[in-house]
Amino acid sequence: MRAAVIEEHGEPLEIEDVEYPEPRPDQVIVETEACGVCRSDWHAWQGDWSWIGAGVPEGQILGHEPAGIVSEVGDDVETLEAGDRVAVPFHLGDGTCPHCREGRANNCDSVLPLGLSEYSQGAFAEAFAVREADFNCVKLPEEVDFTEMAGLGCRFMTAYHALADRANLRPGDWVAVHGCGGVGLSAIHIAQALGAHPIVIDVLDAKLERAAELGAVETINGADVDSAPREVKERTGGGADVSIDALGIAETCQNSVNSLGTRGSHVQVGLTTGEEQGQIDLPVDVMTMQEIDFHGSFGMPLVRYEELFRLIAQGTLEPSKIIGETLSLDELPETLSSMDDYETVGIPVVTEF
Ligand SMILES: [Zn+2]
Ligand SMILES: [Zn+2]
Repeated sequence: MRAAVIEEHGEPLEIEDVEYPEPRPDQVIVETEACGVCRSDWHAWQGDWSWIGAGVPEGQILGHEPAGIVSEVGDDVETLEAGDRVAVPFHLGDGTCPHCREGRANNCDSVLPLGLSEYSQGAFAEAFAVREADFNCVKLPEEVDFTEMAGLGCRFMTAYHALADRANLRPGDWVAVHGCGGVGLSAIHIAQALGAHPIVIDVLDAKLERAAELGAVETINGADVDSAPREVKERTGGGADVSIDALGIAETCQNSVNSLGTRGSHVQVGLTTGEEQGQIDLPVDVMTMQEIDFHGSFGMPLVRYEELFRLIAQGTLEPSKIIGETLSLDELPETLSSMDDYETVGIPVVTEF
């Protein structure tokens, strides 16, 4: 089968013919119908995250935002059969640790992120294997299409968990969104759908225009102002209630914390780059005196999908609004390379394999 493979970190992915996966007893094989292209793919391709033991080796097949159709079923799998339509959340849990038993596979003690571990080859291929498939696959409602669901296994659900669960977002809150990549745009759409007011910071006007279309009440081009946090504080009358770093660089993380008002909540969604290697200076005294919270947020507990699907079925949330271009597997290497300059608008989705 065809797959996009990292032959060398930072060099264009190679489209190669690789072996069709055989399911282990706990696994299913899913034929990929759509898979989003994510900043995390770009990081892994660059060779980032070795400092947290999360780098991928050469030979890796990336792709962690898939939706597809079950083609083969391992002997021990009980709840899935060939032909089932599924989304696969990227944080594949073991199904047995205390966190998984609470439905929180995103916090699993032995998580294997799809496409981001050599033991878990990804979905930029005609098909891929899913470990502990009964536990990890999420069946798609009939009315949602694959392309629409492609961003759901990572960025859309990540933004939902960050805002609804970690930051405890309330209607009327000012939500500052720093960075308008896929997770940032998802956060804007979700925040406005839940009755909050997004105020959005990026350095590219094209992204800010997209943000405004998605319901951003205020947009700030960070390149045009002296201090993005000061601008947020002025426009919100004292600071945001919730602020999210949707990029993962020191400047956006610090700007996010500094955009908050008293008792505000920062949510860190983006993992950092080779520049920071996970270390960022923060204004700890201000955070202490103003009781500012710093939340990490990673994926979304599986038990939260039902609520997300309900909001999508009701039309409150429309993940399709975040989709950028659709492309073929052959076009993927160039699309990933083009993410070097952070100019991608919306989530690119591979739909032809
Ligand atoms: Zn992702
Ligand atoms: Zn677990």
